Amino acid sequence: MTGMLFTLLPQNCISNSYVHFLASRQFETFTTLLRAHMHRLGLSHTPNCPCETGPQTPEHILQTCPLHQEARTDHWPQGATLQEQLWGTKDSLILTTSFIQATKLEV
Ligand SMILES: [Zn+2]
Repeated sequence: MTGMLFTLLPQNCISNSYVHFLASRQFETFTTLLRAHMHRLGLSHTPNCPCETGPQTPEHILQTCPLHQEARTDHWPQGATLQEQLWGTKDSLILTTSFIQATKLEV
């Protein structure tokens, strides 16, 4: 939901602190939808990702999940560290929110 704001507002109208605020809100929501979190709450039968290579955590989705490799390559052709994806510049955070939207794990 908050990710849509990035597409509705001209990029030069968004301050850095507002981008960090929106990105953190979207990331919190994204995290709560993942199986690893839902499983801890007893709301999912498994913590594992549908790709069956590990728990469905934010790091897994952003860095290694084979189901999202194409979107990952589209967004970070040169690769990116988890640090850059989560705590990087305004442009990095916009890229991360775009990637989250591309995963279709709707937030
Ligand atoms: Zn996976």
